[in-house]
Amino acid sequence: MTEEMDWTAVPGLEVLEGEPMSRHTTFRIGGPARWMLLPRSADQAAAVLRLCRERGIVPFFLGCGSNLLVGDGGYDGAILSTARLDEMRVEGETVYAGGGARLSRLAALAADQGLSGLEFASGIPGSVGGAVRMNAGAYGGEMCQALERVDCLDETGAPHTLSPEACHFAYRHSVFCEKNWLITGALFRLRRRDSAEIRAEMAELNRRRREKQPLEYPSAGSTFKRPPGRFAAALIEECGLKGLRVGGAQVSEKHSGFVINREDATCADVLALMEQVRERVLERTGVLLEPEVEILN
Ligand SMILES: Cc1cc2nc3c(=O)[nH]c(=O)nc-3n(C[C@H](O)[C@H](O)[C@H](O)COP(=O)(O)OP(=O)(O)OC[C@H]3O[C@@H](n4cnc5c(N)ncnc54)[C@H](O)[C@@H]3O)c2cc1C
Repeated sequence: MTEEMDWTAVPGLEVLEGEPMSRHTTFRIGGPARWMLLPRSADQAAAVLRLCRERGIVPFFLGCGSNLLVGDGGYDGAILSTARLDEMRVEGETVYAGGGARLSRLAALAADQGLSGLEFASGIPGSVGGAVRMNAGAYGGEMCQALERVDCLDETGAPHTLSPEACHFAYRHSVFCEKNWLITGALFRLRRRDSAEIRAEMAELNRRRREKQPLEYPSAGSTFKRPPGRFAAALIEECGLKGLRVGGAQVSEKHSGFVINREDATCADVLALMEQVRERVLERTGVLLEPEVEILN
């Protein structure tokens, strides 16, 4: 992609050129993005989508970059970041959150309001949009359990509202994995519970996370999906791969399911390490591990 683009056709749009993706991924890896677009409202996002479509550009949607591995050469295209779509409002027993709102902030707001149902999400470092798309989950909870509706824009910028049924949620999967639609917001239906109890549960879950997960190093969480009936971390450990290193990337010594950026890792280091792990696990156990982390290379 070499042509110039005039983004001023979308009035007031914030555009960053050559923005290092390492600043926008929890792995702290990734070269520059040709354009990073930061719409401030769903209407502005719709205008961006219309312009992209007119110019034959397919934008990549970025939330918190917590499930993303970006190539060392960066991305020669348009990244649409939801960082500014981060409004949150409470209405009775429901909370509406923009697609870019952080789950940790959403869970904290719900706790303050004495609203239960998002305790499981407080330690997941993603955005509402990224988490809905992946049907993120932890400790027995999943996004789909608390959702009432999802607001989104299709490739032409036209708005749609989907019910949870229409989202076809499954394990780390939703209809948004098949359709390149932008999630601009979601409404969560919660239930009353004492704020102190909610906060205590969140604190306990986060304590368990800190104890088990290598949160002291950059990563994108679980590197591989859970194979049916098995656990990726257990298979990796069984094959003696705990601590395996390629360049600055390492299979975490604390939790084998995480590849960590131990020291200035490149995307190439992480990919080479992931490939070694997949090959050795397949050879020894017959299980082919599928990446959970999304690769934009
Ligand atoms: C330390 C750590 C712990 C984690 N623990 C968990 C866990 O317990 N459970 C769990 O499920 N995950 C976990 N994750 C993974 C990650 O946080 C989740 O997958 C999260 O939902 C990703 O959200 P995001 O906003 O960061 O998405 P990104 O990484 O920015 O994007 C991921 C995908 O979603 C798409 N996307 C992002 N925003 C939108 C949008 N608004 N509309 C449409 N598509 C969009 C992107 O295009 C991309 O395809 C963990 C990650 C880390 C680093």
